[in-house]
Amino acid sequence: MHLRCAYCQLDLNLQHFQVGTTVVTSVCDLCQKRGLQPASFSNQQISYFAAARQWTFLGLPQELQMTPMPATLQLTREQRKSCMSLINSFDALPADWQTVDRRQQFYAELIHWQDQPSFIFTGNLPTDLSKLGCDTTGLFDKNTLSYTTRARVREFYHYQCQYCGRYGDSVDHKNPVTLSNDNSWENLTLSCRECNRLKGDMPYDLFVRWNQELSILLPQLVHSEQTLQRLTTQQQHLQNQLAAQRHLTGAVTSPRLNALRQEIKLVQGLRDGEDSDYQKLIQLRHDYIISKFRVWQLRQSLEAEEEK
Ligand SMILES: [Zn+2]
Ligand SMILES: [Zn+2]
Repeated sequence: MHLRCAYCQLDLNLQHFQVGTTVVTSVCDLCQKRGLQPASFSNQQISYFAAARQWTFLGLPQELQMTPMPATLQLTREQRKSCMSLINSFDALPADWQTVDRRQQFYAELIHWQDQPSFIFTGNLPTDLSKLGCDTTGLFDKNTLSYTTRARVREFYHYQCQYCGRYGDSVDHKNPVTLSNDNSWENLTLSCRECNRLKGDMPYDLFVRWNQELSILLPQLVHSEQTLQRLTTQQQHLQNQLAAQRHLTGAVTSPRLNALRQEIKLVQGLRDGEDSDYQKLIQLRHDYIISKFRVWQLRQSLEAEEEK
């Protein structure tokens, strides 16, 4: 759930606007750290969101908009995008790394940057944090894996995702390297883009276990991916034939051309049907694993609270 801040105009996670459990603010927590008061800004999107959840909206009601409206932060599209992805990556860091002090420091430096964006972020979290002047103790550079190591891992696993069996080319750290800095062969595996994203920072063992619980579904995914590939190739082939025929004969319609068009339509229909089944499978697996993970996270945080 992303909401847009009324001052910095960044789309950020709900947590940046949430106070306690049932209050949301018109401006994000970063902007509040600047000293901006949520009560001075209206925010239609967030007030609707609050109404829908029956939460309290901390901000000006739309009809009481201040005139003139408080100015918003001026960032270019590119700066906005790179700033949002930096904040998202920071949010995704393991909870035990994100201490209050580190977050406060990050906010202070980022506000500094927002007021004078003298450079653009690289997309590599440790690099960008240290460029900002933040503490990066315990974070390591994901890109230290050499090109040849990546190539070797891909070859070794024959471009096959080790989680689901589909085509894969993402070299994956079993245990997140941002914390372990473990680039050893044992910590590396190959995955497809989708499994890579899905696994995220989940503990390896848990991801493997939940994925195994769906083992009946995995061959279907592989099969579906292959079928789609075949149908796409076939369609491409027919389209080339059609283009060649048209070029050769100079005609726009002919029985031969119409037959080809019919065939293309048929293959297209099959492809669409297969694709829709495929997407359903993907969604099912995604929802299953994510809900397992959420429950696990919840349990972890309850346990942590009990210990206090
Ligand atoms: Zn903001
Ligand atoms: Zn996969």
